[in-house]
Amino acid sequence: MKTAMYPGTFDPITFGHIDIAVRALQIFPRVIAVVAENPAKNTLFSVDERLEMVREAFEDKPCIEVIKYSGLIVNCLREHNASVLIRGLRALSDFEYEFQMAFTNRTLLSSSETVFLTPSAEYIYLNSTMVKQIAKLNGNVTPFVPGFVKQKLIEKFKPGN
Ligand code: ADP
Repeated sequence: MKTAMYPGTFDPITFGHIDIAVRALQIFPRVIAVVAENPAKNTLFSVDERLEMVREAFEDKPCIEVIKYSGLIVNCLREHNASVLIRGLRALSDFEYEFQMAFTNRTLLSSSETVFLTPSAEYIYLNSTMVKQIAKLNGNVTPFVPGFVKQKLIEKFKPGN
């Protein structure tokens, strides 16, 4: 049975990310969540902070391993002898970018396949950027992220930090 990789920025992890990973586990026996270390991307949380939050989110799911990776995702697939990528598809806005990524990855590694999963309806418009904006403006992010992520967001946006 195949291992699937679930790459993302996870800045920070939300219930939408978790929903997709849990769905992936219904299809694949093992999922590796890959926290992308991309210095060009301006993230709120460092890669290690993001890694720690993703680990905590999946600590009750032994079939989900969590790693960080700084290179091309196809090289990460090769290193783990894997070929399946999991991506979440929300409303139409994700489609163009995700299609482009899937075809590019297949050009780089012909054996790679991208499996798109859709989240539960309540998470269809949820993304990390929105969560960060709400937290920055002292809004309540409880419906969107686990409690420990909410705490980290509060700390990040504390005056003086
Ligand atoms: P990236 O920068 O690679 O897009 P993200 O952390 O934003 O990283 O997202 C990782 C994956 O999780 C993407 O496939 C994204 O579409 C998916 N995702 C994020 N939020 C949701 C959500 N609310 N519902 C479904 N999929 C989601």
